[in-house]
Amino acid sequence: MSIEVPQHRFWDVSLETDMGWRLESTYLGLPETFYSQVLPEPVARPQLVKFNTTLANSLGLNLDQIPMEKLANLFSGNQLFREGLPFAQAYAGHQYGGFTMLGDGRAVMLSEHRDPDGRLWDIQLKGAGRTPYSRNGDGRAALGPMLREYLISEAMYALGIPTTRSLAVVATGERVHRERPLPGAVLTRIAISHLRVGTFEYANCRNEPEELATLADYAIARHFPELTHQPDRMVKFLRSVMQRQAKLVAQWMAVGFVHGVMNTDNVSIAGETIDYGPCAFMNAYDPATVFSSIDRHGRYAYGNQPRIANWNMARFAESLLPIISDDRNEAIEVATTAVHEFPHLIQADWLSALRLKLGLHGAATDIDEAHDHSLINDLLDWMKQNRADFTNTFRTLAGDEENVGCAYWEDQKFCEWVARWETRVSVQGGSVAQAQERMKAVNPVVIPRNHRVEEVLANANRGDFQPFDTLLELLRHPFERRSTNPADYAPPPPGTDACYQTFCGT
Ligand code: AMP
Ligand code: MG
Repeated sequence: MSIEVPQHRFWDVSLETDMGWRLESTYLGLPETFYSQVLPEPVARPQLVKFNTTLANSLGLNLDQIPMEKLANLFSGNQLFREGLPFAQAYAGHQYGGFTMLGDGRAVMLSEHRDPDGRLWDIQLKGAGRTPYSRNGDGRAALGPMLREYLISEAMYALGIPTTRSLAVVATGERVHRERPLPGAVLTRIAISHLRVGTFEYANCRNEPEELATLADYAIARHFPELTHQPDRMVKFLRSVMQRQAKLVAQWMAVGFVHGVMNTDNVSIAGETIDYGPCAFMNAYDPATVFSSIDRHGRYAYGNQPRIANWNMARFAESLLPIISDDRNEAIEVATTAVHEFPHLIQADWLSALRLKLGLHGAATDIDEAHDHSLINDLLDWMKQNRADFTNTFRTLAGDEENVGCAYWEDQKFCEWVARWETRVSVQGGSVAQAQERMKAVNPVVIPRNHRVEEVLANANRGDFQPFDTLLELLRHPFERRSTNPADYAPPPPGTDACYQTFCGT
């Protein structure tokens, strides 16, 4: 099936100037059941409000000379590349534990792009209008949430955490209707792919093992090429996805990130953080931290994330059963063995990440894991009891003099813990000061504090982007205490943010 694109929808920029686009459509080689060709719905008055030049350059794109209006036309979906055809992906997913048929309800893939290093990227418009998977949604997005995704995904990238990124935000000049009318926008999302656990659940529930195998081989070629043609590659694929997921969620835990909606349709096969709807960073340490307004039972609470990642990997394993082995019982046995490894994987990644945060070496010494586990857990228990700020406690331990957590030094229990930690540092060799230098390089000074994020978005909604740009610039260098660093970006909000709420599907 193919759809006609009216001539006037093609991008009216001379392709003679080499902008670096190397467009491909590998996904369209999959069976048609995996997507629907669809055009983005044009918007009234596209206006480019954010463009990520650094990201564009890293993709090998040179768009500096292209007038803003032309970029706005492209990144709103008003105009399209001549190569390839836009499409929306089909997928399914377990949302809050229940299985649902989904699909890109408001996202349209513009194209894939191969960068000069040969890596393939998806260029996707989010908020591009209705698709066959929109159900009752309007296919649109509001400016505030798209700017929020831009800001937080860039912060995650700067923290060294795998993530989808944001190339542009275009205001549409139209209103979207949520609880009240809001300015609309389209976000250009860049990802190493948009293959999700839910894509495999979709393939599996169609009961066509060949289609499922085709999808798996496509994902393997794209993300785990070393597995291509290997015997038992499907179970190796499962293990590889699990490894990336374990590492990713351990990294979230290490910075206090609460994803907020770890449904299987929001779990990338490639191990990138995806879907920035209700996410937020924890301030005071508490494993029960939840921000999402609809997560009433704390399914996706901060401390539950490793367990939920495990649950999601079990759903992924189930979806691969028909292609792991023709013998169902054997497939179940092999997959179950693999999934049972997940708690150990994530525990090990978590321990490495927390050791790094505390300037501790692990494997290189004979210091046993149980010791470090209790050392770390005792610190976390102290933080919980004292409602200590997660981020700033680590900066305090790193010897950050300007740190607001200085009052901790008056707490006897804290000082006792520090003495134990210093002993542990001396056992591994090297001084506490050296450990602290390493800690400063991995413990952020600036994270997207909820109250600051809300503040800059409120200003941006009024047309003042300066506070947004200031915060973005600081978040791009999270480990530096810059001289320009306004002192009030590091502290948590005064009082508590226990009432702070975030929202899905914004
Ligand atoms: P999310 O909670 O963002 O993962 O969204 C769940 C599903 O709903 C996804 O398939 C989205 O594409 C879809 N969706 C979210 N918001 C909208 C909207 N405004 N219009 C159409 N579909 C939407
Ligand atoms: Mg989603």
